[in-house]
Amino acid sequence: TQWVYSFGAGHNEGSAEMRNLLGGKGANLAEMASIGLPVPPGFTITTEVCTYFYDHGKQYPGELDAAVGAALARIEEAVGLKFGDTEKPLLVSVRSGARVSMPGMMDTVLNLGLNDQTVEGLAKASGDARFAWDSYRRFIQMYGSVVLDVDHHRFEEIIEDVKLDRGAAEDTALTADDWRDVAMGFKTVVADATGNPFPQDPRAQLWGAIGAVFGSWMNARANTYRRLNDIPASWGTAVNVQAMVFGNMGDDCATGVCFTRDPSTGEDIFYGEYLVNAQGEDVVAGIRTPQPMSSGRAKPGEKPMESVMPAAYQELVRVRSVLEKHYKDMQDIEFTVQQNKLYMLQTRNGKRTAAASLKIAVDMCREGLIDETEAVKRVAPGSLDQLLHPTLDPKAPRKLLSKGLPASPGAACGVVVFSSDEAEMRSQKGESVILVRIETSPEDIHGMHAARGILTTRGGMTSHAAVVARGMGRPCVAGAGGIAVDYASQALSSGGQIVRAGDTVTLDGATGEIFLGSVAMIEPQLSGDFATLMEWADKVRRMKVRANAETPLDAETAKKFGAEGIGLCRTEHMFFDPARIGAVRQMIMSETEDGRRSALAKLLPFQRDDFTELFRIMAGLPVTIRLLDPPLHEFLPHTEAEIAEVAASLGVEAAAMQRRASELSEANPMLGHRGCRLGVTYPEIYEMQARAIFEAAVAVAKETGLAPVPEIMIPLVMVKRELDITRAQVDGVAKQVFEETGTTIEYLVGTMIELPRACLTADTIAESADFFSFGTNDLTQTTFGLSRDDAGKFLPAYVEKNVLPKDPFVSIDPDGVGALMSIGAQKGRSVKPGLKLGICGEHGGDPSSISFCETVGLDYVSCSPYRVPVARLAAAQAAL
Ligand code: ADP
Ligand code: MG
Ligand code: MG
Repeated sequence: TQWVYSFGAGHNEGSAEMRNLLGGKGANLAEMASIGLPVPPGFTITTEVCTYFYDHGKQYPGELDAAVGAALARIEEAVGLKFGDTEKPLLVSVRSGARVSMPGMMDTVLNLGLNDQTVEGLAKASGDARFAWDSYRRFIQMYGSVVLDVDHHRFEEIIEDVKLDRGAAEDTALTADDWRDVAMGFKTVVADATGNPFPQDPRAQLWGAIGAVFGSWMNARANTYRRLNDIPASWGTAVNVQAMVFGNMGDDCATGVCFTRDPSTGEDIFYGEYLVNAQGEDVVAGIRTPQPMSSGRAKPGEKPMESVMPAAYQELVRVRSVLEKHYKDMQDIEFTVQQNKLYMLQTRNGKRTAAASLKIAVDMCREGLIDETEAVKRVAPGSLDQLLHPTLDPKAPRKLLSKGLPASPGAACGVVVFSSDEAEMRSQKGESVILVRIETSPEDIHGMHAARGILTTRGGMTSHAAVVARGMGRPCVAGAGGIAVDYASQALSSGGQIVRAGDTVTLDGATGEIFLGSVAMIEPQLSGDFATLMEWADKVRRMKVRANAETPLDAETAKKFGAEGIGLCRTEHMFFDPARIGAVRQMIMSETEDGRRSALAKLLPFQRDDFTELFRIMAGLPVTIRLLDPPLHEFLPHTEAEIAEVAASLGVEAAAMQRRASELSEANPMLGHRGCRLGVTYPEIYEMQARAIFEAAVAVAKETGLAPVPEIMIPLVMVKRELDITRAQVDGVAKQVFEETGTTIEYLVGTMIELPRACLTADTIAESADFFSFGTNDLTQTTFGLSRDDAGKFLPAYVEKNVLPKDPFVSIDPDGVGALMSIGAQKGRSVKPGLKLGICGEHGGDPSSISFCETVGLDYVSCSPYRVPVARLAAAQAAL
């Protein structure tokens, strides 16, 4: 087995394809080196070593020592230095790197190989003692805190003391002697904390750091991150050992991180930060203020790299285009400039907002880097959600509270909460919350998820809050330093203004502004790149996308988002209207058919108007209307006043109504008197609804010349006979209405498949059905025997403990519910090959469920109006 792979100096044993073995960082270092980019030489110890390490009681493979020695010798030769040499010491960095970038892993150790002797050698060889001692103290601090677990505050205190003592404001003002004092202080700190002197043997340092990287793979933070992100522990991490280049050797040196395009907007501009005379994480550590890359992005007083280091900058511009042409994607890169020479230290596909992802995909297609299909694949369907969300109305009045960094775009308004648990709790109650934290950590993920927006008072554009919020699509304002947060008193203050937990604020993640109270918002832009990508998606998708909608507003929204019909119109939503509920109750409570008929007669014109409007809006597109479905129980009058009102309308005693109400009340309503069971027992209900549908359809056909195509859907069928009975009612009414009006229109009668028995006997049921629509909410509920309304109390724990991989009400469970769907689809089509199949559960808007629907061969998915674009893109990706 080859345990070690070299890269750089013309000897590249790895490539980008080998990320599983070499980790992302190692694979891309090798790839960059092999396409001729300037990468300091090094080697990667494979992820297989990590696996071996854990399989063998933390022992390394026998051959590893020799392999590392040989690879190290190759670096020495390439750069003309020797590891541990007192004259010309080679220094290396030790970097972790799993297949996917993973917070929680060990931090990088730089300048490894320095000790009390080699530091002198470095000083002499470089002619810069200050640089040498600065590097040594950095090494002791990093090695001390990362490998030896010494509290990092203890190091920072020493620097602060020396700075105070010398009257230095910035680190850059310290001299060689100052740094020597700091380094000696650091060594004492390590000795104190660990009981051992700071390790002086470079080989021991190297193996210590390698061991720490492998050890960190199983630390608590990494384990949690893996669990939350479905990353198997078996992947392991690689270790990269690489010759140091120095950004801290003087003013012709620098270090930086940047994106090849703007990761917030997608704009084709170099975006990032760099620092002169600095090393490694200085850029993100916030010790000095990093400067922008391009002059175009520089504000007055800033010193963009483009003008400060023009040669290195131009080289970076060249590298940028080489990288984009090679990887065909936006890159997130890390680099160092040593004495005006550029070195590349990392590249990977850059994380970006949904807006940037869309723009970059469309732009790159236009630039000829990728084709339309690839562009369609590039955008995560779920992320479109962010683009469909409102932004602040520029004309709306507002009162600025403070300003931070525009860390993740979109506007959000909600009540302030100061903890993630609180955020989760209140959002479950239906409140919109803004999570306010000094800074966030991985422990805040659930709160960030629950919040509409996130505000932090510390941290920059690459802080945890910013990165996670962008990934989740939550608007975020980070580093709002003008705001003081006091967790104890549950309040924040800014410029004398106090905002307490529960008060409303509005965030604008695009500008970084925070406003008091709520600010009006406007609808998102659906033209431009968005429309272009949707067009490309529509070209490749097979499944149609419909919307679940019953109100005119929902129907309009759905059409605007590109819905090709209504897949589910829940007629009971029309029953809860205050103007109608009286008649509905009268119908339910009536003990006679006549009583019910007279109540239904009052409802008929309402329903007819509803359908008329829907048909008008949908203008000839199919509209699936589900006849009354919920348990009658749900419509029962509750208060005494309500009961008295119904009693009066029926002309009976209130006491009789009380009795009837308790008669009708059910122990298990979701398995009770509902769905087509209503149609079978009270035929007049479905008759009224069918009449409303047909009268409306005929009227709209006459009025517009565009005949609607109603698809009438019978819910909760468990045996074919139920469908036969209710279908006969519908057909009978159709015939009557067509005779009365002298107009005939086409219609379909189908059924929802939402009970396991219906799936298993779908061949029989199909004989009486023109279409099936899988009602996966109830199908999940009945397949699992899990109450949808109650499972929320324990399902999260089930997912947490990995009893279930995902919430089955969010993503179709392919093995159970999915298997039943496949059976239903196959059996149905075995009887009627052209049987139209759709889905109308919540799952219809979930990308992974949509991809499952493609495998079952459904004709369409139906989802809530705002999810329509998500579904269009997901359906396209599923077809590719
Ligand atoms: P992370 O995964 O946290 O980004 P890296 O391994 O990329 O950690 O290291 C962080 C930073 O350390 C790099 O961006 C770079 O500035 C610095 N660094 C790493 N290796 C070297 C090296 N060989 N020479 C100079 N700087 C380095
Ligand atoms: Mg880091
Ligand atoms: Mg890095």
